[in-house]
Order: sequence, then C-alpha cells, then structure tokens
Amino acid sequence: MAGSRGGLECPVCGLPVEVPDDAVDGEVLEHECGSMLEVVRRNGVLELRPLEGVQEDWGE
Ligand SMILES: [Zn+2]
Repeated sequence: MAGSRGGLECPVCGLPVEVPDDAVDGEVLEHECGSMLEVVRRNGVLELRPLEGVQEDWGE
C-alpha cells in the first residue's frame, strides 16, 4: 500500500478525500461524511486523522 501520493482516504468512512496540494500541517478539512479531518504532514507525506472532539462512538 505504499505510495499514497495523490489520494488519501478518510480514516472515518474510508472514502477518498481531496486534499489541496498546498495543504499544511494542522489544516482541518470537512469530509463529505461530516467528519472533521486534520491534515498531518509527516516527512513530507500527508496523512489524515479525525479531529478530536467530534469522534462518535462507533464501536470497536
Ligand atoms: Zn469521510
């Protein structure tokens, strides 16, 4: 699964997320599923993580 360049998945719903090419670390995007996603830039690689505070209890 290496090489996720150009496409990130929503960690909540698993659907593709369009991330601006100039997205910066800490930027918050709202996905179409209603989740708020924080952009994390690590070693030049963008990742997405659910923004704390809006997570729902969706089981284990
Ligand atoms: Zn989503």
